[in-house]
Amino acid sequence: MTTPLSDKIKFLIRASGPISVTDYFALCLADPQHGYYRTREPFGREGDFITAPEISQLFGEMLGIFLVHAWQKHGGPTGVRIAEIGPGRGTMMADMLRVVSRLAPDLYEGATVHLVETSERLREVQRETLGTHVGRVSWHGGFEEIPPGFLLLAANELFDAIPLRQFIKTGSGFHERMVGLGPDDELTFATGVASLDPTLLPEGHRSAPVGTVFEIAPAREAVMDAISERLRDQGGTAVIIDYGHEVTGFGDTLQAVLKHAFDPPLAHPGLADLTSHVDFADLARTASRGGLHVHGIMHQGDFLMGLGLGERASALGRGRDQAMQQSIIADVERLAGSGAGNMGDLFKVLAVSSAPIALSPFRHPD
Ligand code: SAH
Repeated sequence: MTTPLSDKIKFLIRASGPISVTDYFALCLADPQHGYYRTREPFGREGDFITAPEISQLFGEMLGIFLVHAWQKHGGPTGVRIAEIGPGRGTMMADMLRVVSRLAPDLYEGATVHLVETSERLREVQRETLGTHVGRVSWHGGFEEIPPGFLLLAANELFDAIPLRQFIKTGSGFHERMVGLGPDDELTFATGVASLDPTLLPEGHRSAPVGTVFEIAPAREAVMDAISERLRDQGGTAVIIDYGHEVTGFGDTLQAVLKHAFDPPLAHPGLADLTSHVDFADLARTASRGGLHVHGIMHQGDFLMGLGLGERASALGRGRDQAMQQSIIADVERLAGSGAGNMGDLFKVLAVSSAPIALSPFRHPD
């Protein structure tokens, strides 16, 4: 099967040799002509995958509660920037703002809202979704364009969409994993010449068998560095949610998803969504090195339940018919439950702040 983007990638490989996994990842998502986010409508039941804010309004509401709590713990500063990177359809921001305006009208009235979004088409969707809030919203092509001021930042499923680098163990250490052409002219994984500095490898790399994959993500660290610098200079809290792991380890987590099902990562470049798991330990180390206070890494289920998801779901269901109540229960299970198909354990939440405040439901050593 060929796609317009696979033709382009094969042409590149024939002209100058295999490309790295990180270049393949970047082309799949962001190629100006054929990149996934340039051409597809990925989100929601009609698209390829469904994200937490699209499952239920409860998700954005809990994040709104968390941001209000953080703002209060910071001492209720004025002139706040409420921001999101990669806001998708704008659903999470709309749900957060509804809660913020109810729980903390002072915060809401004095705040401006900032969405970091490069796609013109998605900006239009976000404008629709944000409805009455739209007067305080501005859009930016990059995070660094958000005007100075105290920042409350949220990002859901952003980091998994930022390219990562893969290395594969050979008889002579870890070498960059590449995408080349197989004998049948199909895209295939290959091993490159560039090798990884062994000091970047976790413990136990010597005993890892040949073929073991190790991932690093300099582009993700760069985004975390920018967030850290901004929070350090201007104050604030950031909350980052994604699927991934709490401890840096070995393993190939590159995954493609097409129409709600896993797809081989090289099968449909540009048509399938391509992501990888997020190394939360690495993001936390990056933030800590950047001078931030790291509240911790929690499972999404514990985070949401700790913020009162159960109580809020009961309130939402009160007085509604049984079908609606069942659907709310199913949404809570999907967001916070454990086991296959649920997000509660697979997804993690990282929160970082400019000051060592105590933020529930993170445990604070005191
Ligand atoms: N947060 C939304 C969308 C998740 S999809 C939701 O939960 O539904 C990932 C989003 O991140 C896409 O909109 C993609 O365009 C955006 N994105 C990826 N890399 C980015 C970057 N470096 N800067 C800003 N947005 C980025």
